[in-house]
Amino acid sequence: MTDSYDIAVIGAGPAGMSAAITASAAGARVVVLDDKPRAGGQIYRNVTDSPLKNTDLLGEDYTKGAALVEQFNACRAEKITAANVWHVGDNGEILFSQAGASASLTAREVVISVGAMERPFPIPGWHLPGVMTAGSAQVMLKSDGLVRDGAVFAGSGPLLYLIVAQYLRLGVKVKALVDTTPKQNYLAAASLLPGALGHTDVLTKGIGLLNEIRRAGVPVYKYAEDLSIRGEQQAEGLSFTAKGESHSLDAAHIFLHQGVIPNLNMTRATGVEHVWNREQLSWQPRLNSWGQTSVAHIAVAGDGSGIIGADAAALSGQLVAWQQLVRLGLISPENAENHSRPLQQKLQRYQGLRRFIDRLYKPADALRKPEQQETMVCRCEEQTRGQLKAAFDQGARLPDELKGLTRCGMGPCQGRQCGHTVSELLAQWQGCEVEAVGYYRLRSPMRLINLTELARFQPHRQASAVEVKS
Ligand SMILES: Cc1cc2nc3c(=O)[nH]c(=O)nc-3n(C[C@H](O)[C@H](O)[C@H](O)COP(=O)(O)OP(=O)(O)OC[C@H]3O[C@@H](n4cnc5c(N)ncnc54)[C@H](O)[C@@H]3O)c2cc1C
Repeated sequence: MTDSYDIAVIGAGPAGMSAAITASAAGARVVVLDDKPRAGGQIYRNVTDSPLKNTDLLGEDYTKGAALVEQFNACRAEKITAANVWHVGDNGEILFSQAGASASLTAREVVISVGAMERPFPIPGWHLPGVMTAGSAQVMLKSDGLVRDGAVFAGSGPLLYLIVAQYLRLGVKVKALVDTTPKQNYLAAASLLPGALGHTDVLTKGIGLLNEIRRAGVPVYKYAEDLSIRGEQQAEGLSFTAKGESHSLDAAHIFLHQGVIPNLNMTRATGVEHVWNREQLSWQPRLNSWGQTSVAHIAVAGDGSGIIGADAAALSGQLVAWQQLVRLGLISPENAENHSRPLQQKLQRYQGLRRFIDRLYKPADALRKPEQQETMVCRCEEQTRGQLKAAFDQGARLPDELKGLTRCGMGPCQGRQCGHTVSELLAQWQGCEVEAVGYYRLRSPMRLINLTELARFQPHRQASAVEVKS
């Protein structure tokens, strides 16, 4: 391996794999780093090496990813797997840890394609053992074939219904689906339906999932509000109201999901400018139409650029690669334009569908900005809404001021689980826009590393590519 590349791609999901395939086929020296042992990203995790006997049960949207993963494995890009990237410099320097030691490499162009994470869901009791996100339940299923019988799934969004359906197809018992999609969202989204009709297959699949869940006899509670998880040491159940009636379900496992938002710690720590997306109610990097950020030579592709879904993520990866190939002098701008135009047109067509989905599954205010004083906001540092409000009352106006007074955002997750809530709460308390409040200032290392990894730092070390199984 060399330690200097034309392009470094961080993240081997649909976006990063597509960027690497495109760029390496055009002659660029490409390296791809991903923290997982195998390529695939969130959606295609382990698709070529699943612990499940019958991957068809996870659905066609999963199994179709095998072709992309195989194409990626066969492409000329160098793959550095199980590598945790913790610094991306504006000079193309990348620092990462692998097998207990850290190393560096440099690249002239960088693609950050680190995907999405689930939106924080701060309700009373969400910090208790037994509670996790539905996406984490899916990660356990795809990675190790582990499932939990009798769980309650609560929240909203297509991924929630998909995971419940995947559980049911595997014969796992689901106690209930508590759907928090607000009633008024259906009306609001109806006007955007025409824009989504170009993707009737996706809409039909969504309706199919709901029917599948109902046919399996899983109780579905619609328009749920006032969610609260019961328990002292461990989750014991979920209480909520739905259609004006109070409910209380006993369950030791509660899987929450409220859609996904871009995974921003890397772009934030790299100094990229961000904007608040009012439709998706999340921060995202400010990008031009080629995925280029405000920092020279750093581009973002896939869900990390704003939520677009796996198929669009793959297109955006290709788009970013064409532009970087021009900057590297490997192809002409005309050539890149010819390849990019159809990609941009296809991406444009996804926007109608995205607007519809965003509007339909827009999470209610109360599920993003907790109202109860005792609700934990920063789970790492155990800071409640009440404690943050007290710090606000003492004068903290910006996320970093709140951090300084309370330590919120200073724990292992580096603000991933509280950052959006803190920005939104501060904006609410001051009666201003979220943009005016901003976000935590993040710095490298943007991921947890230990001192041994630092002590074993080897500049330009020969990183080992873990064998990629296909
Ligand atoms: C938990 C979860 C489950 C999901 N499941 C589905 C699903 O079943 N179906 C569906 O349609 N959509 C799913 N999504 C949405 C889905 O992630 C995307 O639409 C799609 O995978 C986005 O592709 P991407 O290439 O942008 O990112 P991803 O597929 O997320 O790929 C990003 C890659 O970057 C790696 N990475 C992140 N940070 C670092 C770092 N610091 N160092 C090294 N590597 C890093 C990640 O491990 C990952 O492999 C899921 C999202 C989440 C959060």
